[in-house]
Amino acid sequence: EQSARTIDALMRAGAEDATALGAPGGAPLSFGGLRAQMRDTVAALNAHGIGRGDRVALVLDNGPAMAAAFVAVAAGATAAPLNPAYKAEEFSFYLADLGARVLVTAAGRESPAVAVAESLGVPVARLSETPEAGAGRFRLDLPGAGAPAARGGPAEADETALVLHTSGTTSRPKIVPLSQANVCASARNVRASLALAPEDRGLNIMPLFHIHGLIAGLLAPLSAGSAVCCTPGFNALKFFAWMDEVRPTWITAVPTMHQAILGRAARNREVIARVPLRFLRSSSSSMPPQVLRELEEVFGAPLIEAYGMTEAAHQMASNPLPPRPRRPGSVGLAAGPAIAVVDEAGTPLPAGETGEIVIRGDNVMAGYEANPKANAEAFTPDGFFRTGDQGVLDPDGYLTITGRLKEIINRGGEKISPREVDEILMDHPAVAQCVTFALPHPKLGEDVAAAVVLRDGQASDEAALRAFVAGRVAPFKVPSRVLLLEEIPKGATGKLQRIGLAQKLGLA
Ligand code: ATP
Ligand code: MG
Repeated sequence: EQSARTIDALMRAGAEDATALGAPGGAPLSFGGLRAQMRDTVAALNAHGIGRGDRVALVLDNGPAMAAAFVAVAAGATAAPLNPAYKAEEFSFYLADLGARVLVTAAGRESPAVAVAESLGVPVARLSETPEAGAGRFRLDLPGAGAPAARGGPAEADETALVLHTSGTTSRPKIVPLSQANVCASARNVRASLALAPEDRGLNIMPLFHIHGLIAGLLAPLSAGSAVCCTPGFNALKFFAWMDEVRPTWITAVPTMHQAILGRAARNREVIARVPLRFLRSSSSSMPPQVLRELEEVFGAPLIEAYGMTEAAHQMASNPLPPRPRRPGSVGLAAGPAIAVVDEAGTPLPAGETGEIVIRGDNVMAGYEANPKANAEAFTPDGFFRTGDQGVLDPDGYLTITGRLKEIINRGGEKISPREVDEILMDHPAVAQCVTFALPHPKLGEDVAAAVVLRDGQASDEAALRAFVAGRVAPFKVPSRVLLLEEIPKGATGKLQRIGLAQKLGLA
């Protein structure tokens, strides 16, 4: 619905018989079926004392049942999706930190989360898929009888739909509570940016325990009344077979996934020709312009780069669809919240000046949970949320991210934006991927280093790459070390992480 402020209302957009969810090789589930699943799930939770505001941890592999469980739980309680790949220690931190009232996990799948939940006294509910009734249909078995929930039925706009931790790229993960209204506003913003319509078909490869997948991969297309085919997760080797079967009209992914897809594109030209995409979308970290151009050429479709974060329920800015111009290297125009660039005092800066990116809108969380210290620093006096990202707006309103404030490298007092160095290295014909990062240094405090993955069949070395950078910037920005690697270590959501990379690579 155009103005839906609850997930229950948002899911009324699809026609009763139109497909809502699917899976490669599976039978489709209609919107009518999805709404029935939502009613059944909320009723089952309510009957066991779980209602609005109660946190339901979801530890389920990517797929239609996870998608349907998320939508249902978020409509009638508070969804807390967790990465199913976590180990016991991580589950015990997250289950306790989030105050989970119940854990939902798949019947017949032994997750370390189960033993952890039992030790914390958190009841475990088992989800059994019933794929004959359609992809994503399931039965939920909750333990014990329990008293009915005091606050049952669909949640209201200001109640928390979803709790997630930030990715922890720059510091300890923080708890982000997102209200029904936040989540719906963001889904609507993504839908509008991409002009999603009932005829579209999405192929979701993004994890459903991260805001990008939940909003752009799932809720935005469902809110447009269009179908989402839910894969078991990203797999570059299976991607083109899924594409051939599902015939999606669009996909959204993080840049590292796009690069993996690109790496398999040459041997899948027929599929690409058979399945024309309306667009590809990239978000969650920066898309190198070189990769953007290659993707556009190979797929013959525009690549829409967008800017998102957990605290904004995902989308903040997006490049527009054609015929309006995309700008490689820019994350586009404000796409939902108001965006400004401010100085340290929070005063807005004019176009062309670099400062901190701040946002204000219906999609932005009210504040971190149980973290007064972070909240005191997180908002400007005008109520804008400080993203921690550094950027610049041009006079046409296009936003360019220049770095993260916490990632700025301080080399003996000289401030260096690692992104600037990345961008130069990416211009080198032999470089496929790179991450510039701070290397602890006894005298300078921090020194500049870069980790580089070379393109298949290309050769280069440390001296040549350093000389390449030295030809383009002042000497203090040139990495003292360039490491050639097979692969650069990533965080849980597939992000390349600068902070802590020196430690991960055994350099500090
Ligand atoms: P933490 O806040 O715990 O350090 P995180 O910021 O990585 O982790 P997320 O909310 O998943 O957690 O990521 C949001 C951040 O991702 C943004 O603040 C921004 O730095 C980065 N980002 C998102 N989209 C883009 C993009 N298109 N280009 C560059 N950076 C992006
Ligand atoms: Mg962040």
